[in-house]
Amino acid sequence: MLKPKPSIDTIQPYQGGKPIEEVRRELGITDIIKLASNENPLGPSPLAMEAISESVTQVHLYPDGNAYYLKEDLAASLGISAEHLILGNGSNDVLQLVAEAYVAPGDEVIYAAGAFVVYSLVTKLCSATAVVVPMVEHTHDLSAMASAITDKTKVIFVANPNNPTGTMVTADETAAFMERVPDDVLVVFDEAYYEYVDRSDYPQTLPYVLEGRNFIITRTFSKIYGLAGLRIGYGIASPPLVETLNRVRQPFNCSLVGQAAAQAALKDTAHVTKSREQNASGKAFLYDAFDNMGLRYVESEGNFIMLHLGQSGTDVADALLKEGVIVRPIGGYGYPNAVRVTIGTQPENEKFIKALGVVSRR
Ligand SMILES: *Cc1c(COP(=O)(O)O)cnc(C)c1O
Repeated sequence: MLKPKPSIDTIQPYQGGKPIEEVRRELGITDIIKLASNENPLGPSPLAMEAISESVTQVHLYPDGNAYYLKEDLAASLGISAEHLILGNGSNDVLQLVAEAYVAPGDEVIYAAGAFVVYSLVTKLCSATAVVVPMVEHTHDLSAMASAITDKTKVIFVANPNNPTGTMVTADETAAFMERVPDDVLVVFDEAYYEYVDRSDYPQTLPYVLEGRNFIITRTFSKIYGLAGLRIGYGIASPPLVETLNRVRQPFNCSLVGQAAAQAALKDTAHVTKSREQNASGKAFLYDAFDNMGLRYVESEGNFIMLHLGQSGTDVADALLKEGVIVRPIGGYGYPNAVRVTIGTQPENEKFIKALGVVSRR
């Protein structure tokens, strides 16, 4: 019988948030909101939509495999040179490139229990040993992660802020951690929610890259930029690291439409600002509502909140589905009695709270 390699046997296929269409089909409900995948509830930037329409006449052509113009724009906005950038089919693609390029069977990869699930996926993909370090108060314990480093450690993944807990590590914690990481270990800071964070103790990690540390930052156009459907993410790293990642990258991993849209979205600072402001007010509204309902939650630096329920998150998510609200159960992350809810528009947040009230009165 044909069998996959042993490390693949333990991988569970990634469970995404249910698409609205699927719920409509399965439950016959028409009025549905999706607060399950941390997408931007305002939709794509209008400038990006314009760029998408303009690019459609060109889709018979392969995209620019080096994404020259997008890299130039990103480099300018970050104040670095374009050789520091690697583009991915979503930032998940970059995370996988890192594992493929640097992690061999038997190597160790460190990440936190309750961290973003893709770290475990790419570790298994490369037949490496996962060293899973417990969190403290739903937060990465960087000091314990540094203590877990051995001669076999190749890569350390840190989600900052983390999905699904929404917590972040601070600049001081990161500096102390980086003092302890040896030269032959690659540190990956996954900053998918970077643009949402407004805390002054959030670490600015670009200097680690520019100092020539073995450090890669990943960011994405999927979250605040509202382009999740186009799959564009990127990594920021020293040029030699980027050169290595480029060897394993598929030549045309970022679509022509995606590149055009990302360039436009990057310039639409008004849309980003509006998205950030709406997220902040939506978060305050939801915290308040949860407090009133006596529900515990984890304070979030992202565009989503992990909500403790004291009962099965899957059951509550299923019940909410019938009320037309899609949220994400996070049992797979080790939180069976919690869900993760994306902060929506004000009407969406109100609909969610109303539905949660209906469901919890049952
Ligand atoms: C959403 C998310 C990503 C981004 O995924 P893309 O592949 O860029 O869409 C990466 N890391 C974390 C922690 C996320 O929540």
